[in-house]
Amino acid sequence: MTAPTTTDPAPDGRVRRPVRTPRHDPADRPLLVIWEATRACALACVHCRAEAAPGRDPRELDTAEATRLMEQVAEFGRPAPIFVITGGDCFERADLAELVRRGRALGLPVAVSPSGTARLTREALVVLREAGVTSLSLSVDGADAATHDGFRRVPHTFARTMAGWRTARELGLKVQINTTVARHDVEQLPDIAALVHREGAMTWSGFMLVPTGRGADLGPLTAAEVEDVLNLFYDLGQVVPVKTTEGHHFRRVALQRTVLERRGADHVAVLGLGPLYERLRARSIELGLLGAAERRRRPPISVSSANGFVFVSHTGTVHPSGFLPVPAGNVRTAPLTEIYRTSKLFRALRDPARLQGRCGACEYATICGGSRSRAYGATGDLFAEEPWCAYRPGKLPYAVDVEALLRSA
Ligand code: SF4
Repeated sequence: MTAPTTTDPAPDGRVRRPVRTPRHDPADRPLLVIWEATRACALACVHCRAEAAPGRDPRELDTAEATRLMEQVAEFGRPAPIFVITGGDCFERADLAELVRRGRALGLPVAVSPSGTARLTREALVVLREAGVTSLSLSVDGADAATHDGFRRVPHTFARTMAGWRTARELGLKVQINTTVARHDVEQLPDIAALVHREGAMTWSGFMLVPTGRGADLGPLTAAEVEDVLNLFYDLGQVVPVKTTEGHHFRRVALQRTVLERRGADHVAVLGLGPLYERLRARSIELGLLGAAERRRRPPISVSSANGFVFVSHTGTVHPSGFLPVPAGNVRTAPLTEIYRTSKLFRALRDPARLQGRCGACEYATICGGSRSRAYGATGDLFAEEPWCAYRPGKLPYAVDVEALLRSA
């Protein structure tokens, strides 16, 4: 009897696609435009990309310039990219609700990403909902106040975030929870997943730390530990809608796990997962998150820096990611559409042939490619191999299955 391949339907009749790809060409139109509205923030988080400061920078894009930026985003065409207003703390901008209204009038889905400060009140969320905000993301970097507040370096941040989360849900807003995966909270990931499961969220995004901004001072995980975490995320996808930020090799893990499941192979042995995975999985089972019949999981989408994703800084500088401090232009002097589609930097980042080391030799490069932000942060080379990936190209058995799935993606 011939063993099933991963492009065969699963026993329930569904054809599994372990990785989603955008329906349009992501080189022509991003799915996400992230705008750093300000760097001002009352918090002083240990990992802060923006190295946020208490006061606003006079060089920030003003209301008219931000409106022009949103017009440029609308010019990408439909369906319009999601316009995410982040910071710092976007609540530090008095014109936030007005900007949301203008973005919505231009046909943009507008999301906000506030900090867990005293400004995150019911009144503020009601104003944003009435202005037309479609979703909101909040950071939860620990399963309890001691861990989260220690990371955010301001007391009561956890309580404020939890209150904001519940209020946003009550108001009918979609909520994404972001969790920085680092030494301080890695053992708590199952407990954070349980929190997400209990409170409800549209997405839980595990942010794989990039050594930039204040994050450069945090103790990194090893590449083997990151494999353990990504495999746990795959398991937790049964019960919570998990995605990763700057963890592109989650797509490789999702594809490998699909292959191994269909082949009935032991993923722990084949992938060589370590004691961290065993501990996290045991805790997840203890919390009742795993072990039931598999439910619907949302496959990760193949989007990366400059390829579906673009970041605009508080001064209008365009970057492939908020964690990649290499500029491609400035929206004050050139349209975002032009910079995104034609700049040398963005075009180079879309070319898998530029990748070096293991990423350059990897069969998963077209759906993964590694975090260019972390490669740059660790080595100063944009195209160096991903330092947080332990995969050796060609190592997984069932190459025919992998090839078939990669072709279908
Ligand atoms: S070697 Fe690079 S391209 Fe391959 S899975 Fe790892 S990060 Fe992705």
